[in-house]
Amino acid sequence: MIVMAFGKFIGQKEIKRRLSVMMQGEPSQSFLFTGPVGSGKRTIAGELAKALVCENPTADGACNNCNCCRYYDAGTLPDVVRLDGEESNIKVADVRRTVVSGSAMPPQIARRKVFLIDCDKLNEEGQNAILKSVEEPPAGVVFILMAADKSHLLPTILSRVIEFKLVGYSEEEIRSIVKTRYGDIDNGRLEFITDFSAGLPGKAIAMCEDEEFGELRDKIFDIMIKMPEKSYTDILYDDFAFWDENKSRVDDLLVFMLWVIGDIAMMLKAPDSADIRYKDKKDEIRGMISRHSYLSTTRLGNCATAVNEMIRGMNVNVNYESACCSMLLKVHKELRQ
Ligand SMILES: [Zn+2]
Repeated sequence: MIVMAFGKFIGQKEIKRRLSVMMQGEPSQSFLFTGPVGSGKRTIAGELAKALVCENPTADGACNNCNCCRYYDAGTLPDVVRLDGEESNIKVADVRRTVVSGSAMPPQIARRKVFLIDCDKLNEEGQNAILKSVEEPPAGVVFILMAADKSHLLPTILSRVIEFKLVGYSEEEIRSIVKTRYGDIDNGRLEFITDFSAGLPGKAIAMCEDEEFGELRDKIFDIMIKMPEKSYTDILYDDFAFWDENKSRVDDLLVFMLWVIGDIAMMLKAPDSADIRYKDKKDEIRGMISRHSYLSTTRLGNCATAVNEMIRGMNVNVNYESACCSMLLKVHKELRQ
């Protein structure tokens, strides 16, 4: 765990400002953090929870030094209770036991008891179970709710919480977040991850931890760049085998495909373009273009269409094998003379 206070949390200036103002009073309301998966809701909600149990909080949040902060960092503070879980729905019995019974007990060590609840996993029954507690929290109890999608939250819950909506991160903010954790990351990889994360730090961090990610990215490039020289059987055996083995990563593979196609098209039009995704592979793209002078933006446009068809197909659960073979063969046809 990275020890921080509000000020060290990168981005989200407005939320940090509001939290600082709030910490100068005696916060006792219930809160809701909203933002897409990977936007940092848990991290900043956790910082608020820690500040609320800290013995010496400041406007910048927890002191990171007192007993409560230390227990919190070690994950052993009994007064911060998390309700999330692996399953898509938290069982209502767990909700009752953890929240309803739990909030009736006074805090053990800290001056408050804080409940952090992942509302994306609470169905209507679960929400009804916490309703009364959120509406009228017992003295010394604070609820911090988190939701990617607040549209499924009961209006009665929404009316009782103060919302903090996370906004998108700039590329510069994503770079800083990644560098804070992975100081020695090389620049090419950092750029690539920043680009791929689409403004979501959680996604950028997951990619840094994902050793396969770089390999998949390079393998797709390799498949595409060699495609004009390949035979029909190479595609159906070797390339398809790779796609088949990495079926669980299809979403990433399809994005990489679109990136390579986009980069080749871009360099056809502007050979010195700095605006490409595979910046480290410029020479190889240039080589491919010079070897195959028939390549055109129309052909590459058709390749992108084939990939997009597969993306749409995946969304409606078409057969993976046939969608994948069909896409690969269409792309092959366009890239061959
Ligand atoms: Zn503290």
